Amino acid sequence: MVNSSHHQVVGRFAPSPTGALHTGSLVAAVGSYLMAKQSGGRWLLRLDDLDTQRQLPGMADDIMRALESFGLLWDGEVACQSRNLGEYLRAFETLQRGGVIYPCRCSRKEIARSASAPHSGDDGVPYHGSCRDGMKEGAKGDPPIRSWRVRVPEEEICFYDLRSGRLCQKLPSVSGDFIVRRGDGEFAYQLAVVVDDYAAGVNQVVRGEDLLSSTPRQIYLQRLLGFPQPEYCHLPLVTGGDGSKLSKRDHLLSHGLSNLAGREQTLLLAALRFLGLTPAPDLVECSCSDILQWGVTHFDPLRLPAHGGTLVF
Ligand code: GLU
Repeated sequence: MVNSSHHQVVGRFAPSPTGALHTGSLVAAVGSYLMAKQSGGRWLLRLDDLDTQRQLPGMADDIMRALESFGLLWDGEVACQSRNLGEYLRAFETLQRGGVIYPCRCSRKEIARSASAPHSGDDGVPYHGSCRDGMKEGAKGDPPIRSWRVRVPEEEICFYDLRSGRLCQKLPSVSGDFIVRRGDGEFAYQLAVVVDDYAAGVNQVVRGEDLLSSTPRQIYLQRLLGFPQPEYCHLPLVTGGDGSKLSKRDHLLSHGLSNLAGREQTLLLAALRFLGLTPAPDLVECSCSDILQWGVTHFDPLRLPAHGGTLVF
């Protein structure tokens, strides 16, 4: 385990301001907060605002106000991906100098067509690698460069997840050579998150299980860039009533848009129960910061439930 006493834990919560805080992101915020604070660590807030097209105005503020109303107070300045573009470029150039990335002209449609069997993972179809050994020489009217991809190795990437134990993945069968930068210059989440966490000294990544399958790609980039690997804990996912992924209408914790006020303690207790804790019901009378303090004292990643579900409150 990475948490040795001479090295301060730095955890983080990294919401994308594409919608208000919802029950799933509340659980990720609480889980990452408890885990960082349990080791006397710092808990940072970063707004993952790279995807400008999907952002909604005012959401970053809304998320911050909602976190404050739960007593989830971050340490230091709020980081923003949109202010880190120079760091991404430096990392991209390092990869380029290392000869591990290449330009690609394939469109999503072509990649989907290339799949020999239908593949319905969150990661879509693994890239078939047709630009790996150079793009076809350009007759006039060639499509533009659509992306820059990193070559992935055949060997498994293994890591230890504090909830799920040792996990291994072969990148060629999940993502194939994956995108680190789009043709229009925008950096991909996988590269940005690795650079952001490194730049902020984050050494503990606690987040929803939906990102578990991305973790080996991120570890691979850390290795290529010579960054230390944080410890990982992927939390069970909050789902809709029918077990489906949370959708926009489940974004019920918006500070401005809903009647959150007065329900913070109830929701916090629900999040603690979701994370495997059994708080006494009368804790609901306490302040949010007392409830969080109780959580910090009692949280145990080994008792995180194996499965997610709805957040009952
Ligand atoms: N911004 C990502 C999201 O909201 C989370 C990134 C991460 O925790 O690595 O899903």
